[in-house]
Amino acid sequence: MKRNLTQSVVSWKASNMWEEIASFSRFASPGERYSSLLPVQDTAMLSTLGEGNTPLIRSGYFSRELGVPELYFKLENTNPTGSFKDRIMACEISLMRQRGCRVCLGPSTGNAGAALAAYAARFGIRCYIFATENADAGKLQQMLFHGAQVQRIKGFGVSSQYTEEVFAALKQVADENGAHLVCSAFKYNALGMEAIKTISFEICEQLQDIPGSVFLPIAGGGLLSATWKGFQTFSRLGKIDRLPRMNGVQSAGCPTIVQAVQEGRAPSAQPSTTSIGALAAPFAPDGPLAVQSIVESGGWGYDPTDEEIYSAQRMLARKEGIYAEPIGAASVAGLIQAQRERGVDPEERIVCVITGHGFKDPESVARANQNGAIPSVDIGQLLQQRFLPD
Ligand SMILES: *Cc1c(COP(=O)(O)O)cnc(C)c1O
Repeated sequence: MKRNLTQSVVSWKASNMWEEIASFSRFASPGERYSSLLPVQDTAMLSTLGEGNTPLIRSGYFSRELGVPELYFKLENTNPTGSFKDRIMACEISLMRQRGCRVCLGPSTGNAGAALAAYAARFGIRCYIFATENADAGKLQQMLFHGAQVQRIKGFGVSSQYTEEVFAALKQVADENGAHLVCSAFKYNALGMEAIKTISFEICEQLQDIPGSVFLPIAGGGLLSATWKGFQTFSRLGKIDRLPRMNGVQSAGCPTIVQAVQEGRAPSAQPSTTSIGALAAPFAPDGPLAVQSIVESGGWGYDPTDEEIYSAQRMLARKEGIYAEPIGAASVAGLIQAQRERGVDPEERIVCVITGHGFKDPESVARANQNGAIPSVDIGQLLQQRFLPD
């Protein structure tokens, strides 16, 4: 079943549509499709819930509004647990099963823990999650529902020095207990993070080319660094002949990495004031790596306000039909800022990665709906209504 990747990628241009569709659907997961480029080569150990192979769709509204005819959304919110973290956890759980390890500990602002809990549930691994103080309630419920033991750690994710101490303490108890510490950062789990490269592989295959620019949200910095690595890998293999510019987006309430890019210096820790829990990463484990990736690629850092991010989230839902959580819409808020402040070349092909699902954070949606009450009507009231198009 395992097919030579070089063949499968090079042949896309020559192949007809049915072969193309077959080549995507023949593999259960990107872990299998790209196994020769990933840490787990023994496909018998691959632990999948059907992650990856996410759609790349063309934008309508934002494409017109921003004057970018070739604007695409990579819908990572369609992964099994609702975020790209599934790609990492599929790989981490595969590695654990290879080693015969049966207990994992996961620090999380929400999505990493939810993904870990789901994959652990499916593959018989005991899962303990240590959530940041401001982790989103919906994500905590998701972890509990998958049977994980969940605790919040006071002050975790709020102050940078304390957060670093929490990571050290978690590493210590994990080692003492023979448990695997699963954290979605190169600094702690370099192997699992490799699996994120499959986002870039898929984008290249879906476009049958590369984008000029990619926009991604940044918390710890691993996502952006790994997608950059993915494009570099394809370049090294001769599958693409240019590289995209990588643009990182954080909230103005916690711009640890993008401010470093803007000011041409190393990232420094600072307290977070953003109301978007998933963007509150005062201690970014992969900060230096993310800065390096952005600079090396010729990209830039953007820091829209929380309100601008909520607005992008709302317009994605209203005008594009895409249901994203706030951090999942941050890439679009970053592109809007880029267009406003620096201008975007209308010829440029741009991909915004939509990283997480709207179902994840129902509170942000209720707030945007102004907690609007939904009226109850009877048949008489129904019959009196008139319905008009916009
Ligand atoms: C984790 C996460 C991010 C940020 O990824 P980092 O590797 O921490 O920078 C972005 N969006 C969503 C939905 C996430 O779950």
